[in-house]
Amino acid sequence: MSIEQNVKKLLSELGPEVQLVVAAKNRTPAEVSECISAGAKIIGQNYLQDARRAYQIIGEEATWHFIGRLQRNKITRIISMFDMIETLDSLEMASLVNHECSEMGRKMPVLVEVNSGREAQKSGVLPEELESFIKRLVSYDRIKVMGLMTMGPLSIEPEYYRPYFSITRKLFEHIDALNLPGVQMKYLSMGMTDSYRVAIEEGANIVRIGSKIFGPR
Ligand SMILES: *Cc1c(COP(=O)(O)O)cnc(C)c1O
Repeated sequence: MSIEQNVKKLLSELGPEVQLVVAAKNRTPAEVSECISAGAKIIGQNYLQDARRAYQIIGEEATWHFIGRLQRNKITRIISMFDMIETLDSLEMASLVNHECSEMGRKMPVLVEVNSGREAQKSGVLPEELESFIKRLVSYDRIKVMGLMTMGPLSIEPEYYRPYFSITRKLFEHIDALNLPGVQMKYLSMGMTDSYRVAIEEGANIVRIGSKIFGPR
């Protein structure tokens, strides 16, 4: 099947309740563009270089989500291009994002990344530190917390992901119930090619999918 057919099939499976983020790392602008023609609205990028090349031909037709690891020397460029950051996980980056946004006179919607598998090398805030982390974000007036994102430990077995997604959903509900000022728990971004169905069962309303659309990396 073509990229276009893959996207159309996926969009009809997801329906109106679940948003598709096309995970476009290492894909060409032409491939990414096909997804937009097929009806995808949101492009997720891990790397600035890929993102810029695709942005040059797609531009404002898409909404752009940053899904890679934040690096301090790239924050300015990330903020000038992206509509949402899905991977905020440190106060250091939050402070930089807040500062740059105030320079640019804008706000940045963010999802806080959760290290739901408590993996040593993985990015994300540990589950037990999430509440205090988000409470500290409240003082950054240019950052708008809109939900959580998690990857979970990698596996090819979909069911393996379930407990990590379930933990993240519980955290999402817990933070939502705190009614913190400036925090609006609206999006729960979980699930990739191998795991998106389980993620949706566990409450995801954003899924980030690459290989199922473009073929294996
Ligand atoms: C690559 C990537 C995905 C998509 O992974 P697939 O298995 O190709 O669907 C989702 N989220 C993030 C953060 C990624 O880097």
